[in-house]
Amino acid sequence: MNIENLNQKLIEKAENLFDQVEVLAGYCQSSHPLKVNPCFIDKKEDLNKLIFNQLCINNLASYAYKLSKQVKGNIGMVVKPCDSKAVAQLISEGLIERDKFKLIAVGCNGVMDYKKISRAVGGARVSGLDIGQDKIKVETARGSRELEKKDYYADKCYWCELWEKPPVYDEFLENEHKLDIEKRDRFADIKELEQMDLDQIFSYWQKEFDRCIRCYACRNICPMEVCQDQCIVHLDFPNWQSQKVNTDENKFFQMIRVMHLAGRCVECGECERVCPQNISLLKLMKKMNQIIGQLFDFEAGMDMEAKPPLLTYNTLEKNIKEEEL
Ligand code: SF4
Ligand code: SF4
Ligand code: SF4
Repeated sequence: MNIENLNQKLIEKAENLFDQVEVLAGYCQSSHPLKVNPCFIDKKEDLNKLIFNQLCINNLASYAYKLSKQVKGNIGMVVKPCDSKAVAQLISEGLIERDKFKLIAVGCNGVMDYKKISRAVGGARVSGLDIGQDKIKVETARGSRELEKKDYYADKCYWCELWEKPPVYDEFLENEHKLDIEKRDRFADIKELEQMDLDQIFSYWQKEFDRCIRCYACRNICPMEVCQDQCIVHLDFPNWQSQKVNTDENKFFQMIRVMHLAGRCVECGECERVCPQNISLLKLMKKMNQIIGQLFDFEAGMDMEAKPPLLTYNTLEKNIKEEEL
């Protein structure tokens, strides 16, 4: 199935379920060669704008909670298998209703990280992009470049196990192109950091959070941070967090995020993708996920029936030896 056929099949699936939904969230063409746009379709005649390709990096589940509050009827959504983890986690926490969502999951052969491509061409304005089987051709004002495709996937694709196994969906669209890249260790960057001594680790995070401008893009894009309208960082009373932008306050803000997302983060990578300062937010999230996995044998978003560990209480936790603490 070439990409035109995949798009056509997607449109057919969307047409078949459109009578059951009020709006459908999907991907549409963008004028930027490196990106696609999230789009929200409420007229059947606009469904032919839908596309799916390897630039569809955005996690549309980021819109699930708000849409569920704003839209009276059902909501259609195109999801990559990894995105459906966020939907499953929102359902498991009772934040959205399963029946309100009609999900078209698309088998995925990995998405390209446009930030990596942009860095490879020195930030030059990209005027054209051709993603082939093994190479990516990039046209810029400074000339054209050919890149090895295997180096430009989103990080999460290198350890993905779900690319044709979405945890939750209504319709599955098989993609004849399969994910075919060399696997990497999901926690390699954490291990590297943990090789350092404490002073070096501290200095690493000081440098990272020195750059933070507290734009809150990381929080706003996160599919799980549904309470951002009442976020404690904006409260005057009690005033937990100062509005000052400095390294300590910036770190404190991220510590709040990490704790708030313990056992909830689905590692979609959206926070890091949208950070204008390229701060390594996922290292923090992955470390917390590693701890949650070790303590509770739990991974967020894998089972919409499972109760997230920090939303339940057991007097005796199997892997927490209180007497040894
Ligand atoms: S993590 Fe898996 S499902 Fe998600 S974009 Fe990458 S390959 Fe596709
Ligand atoms: S997106 Fe980046 S710069 Fe903005 S608040 Fe988050 S960490 Fe800071
Ligand atoms: S914290 Fe980041 S990686 Fe985790 S769910 Fe939110 S946006 Fe995705």
